[in-house]
Amino acid sequence: MLERNKTRQIRVGNVVMGGDSPITIQTMTNTNTADTLATIEQIEDIYKAGGELVRVAVPDEDAVKGLREITKASPVPVIADIHFHHELALKAIDQGVAKVRINPGNLGGKEKLLQVAEKAGENGVALRIGVNAASLEKDILQGYQGDSPSALVKSAVRHVHYLEKFGFYNMVISLKASDAPATFQAYSLLAREVDYPLHIGVTEAGPYYRGTVKSAVGIGSLLMAGLGDTVRVSLTASPVEEVKTARLILQAAGARVFGPELISCPTCGRCEIDVPNLAAKVEALIASKEYPWKIAVMGCVVNGPGEARNSHLGVTGTPRQGIIFKHGEIIRRVPRESLLEALQEELSNLESAESGI
Ligand code: SF4
Repeated sequence: MLERNKTRQIRVGNVVMGGDSPITIQTMTNTNTADTLATIEQIEDIYKAGGELVRVAVPDEDAVKGLREITKASPVPVIADIHFHHELALKAIDQGVAKVRINPGNLGGKEKLLQVAEKAGENGVALRIGVNAASLEKDILQGYQGDSPSALVKSAVRHVHYLEKFGFYNMVISLKASDAPATFQAYSLLAREVDYPLHIGVTEAGPYYRGTVKSAVGIGSLLMAGLGDTVRVSLTASPVEEVKTARLILQAAGARVFGPELISCPTCGRCEIDVPNLAAKVEALIASKEYPWKIAVMGCVVNGPGEARNSHLGVTGTPRQGIIFKHGEIIRRVPRESLLEALQEELSNLESAESGI
């Protein structure tokens, strides 16, 4: 595992964030929060996909009314996302949310921010201070000639110090930048200034394919630098896809392990089998496994096993024969149509060996 920047620990419901606790995955529902049944249903799907916290938009009183039912039914802590209306934040806390995400720049002044912090403090509720380039203070915009990463950091630190003076420390910080280099720069600067847990992500990263790449670069580079305590991938796609993408990024960055990793070759002129199709089937086969194995799907017998010698198990073959290899050595040859069945058996053997059965 990578060495992480040391942050203080805070609690969001039953989830501990920061310090050496696991980097959590969160996402945001895209249902109408006032439609409590649809929102609860989506939260269930998010939870099943691996979401560990969920944020819901609270734009009006109708959304607030459903929060009690949502927070009671949710298997993960619920975060209220509030803009402009501090009174909605106060009411959301009364409805049992574990955290409130606010942008102090659009809340209507310091007094209102303090009212929210006071109520949050009384109820053991955490706050996310989410600084957004669109609502930076005028003096900061002038002083830094625009919404540069330094300007975002300056604004965040100002809000943090203000809340600290008031005696409020139960917070997570995020900076809203929509490209990967600016995100990296901003969080790197912020980590030198505060020790609160960092909520990282590239905001509005884009449609699935483009947004996944942008998020992987932005979040991945921060994780590799040891930064980040909770992650949100922000895609124009379902929250379930966001959670799945976040898990893959965390695992690829060596920050968490959620199960086996699939390795598959890019194929070339030596390829003798349908690698994409076989890889999809193997991926489904290992989806429920918990051990951090590397499982390979390679296109040819001559090079495949050797190229994937780091894998715990691998498959390759010819149109007629299926081959299973372990750490680069061929261990079984089976009829091509029995390859998946044979792999399943070898995975079970591996599982037994891991669990000492
Ligand atoms: Fe090509 Fe074989 Fe390597 Fe796949 S494993 S890229 S088919 S040489």
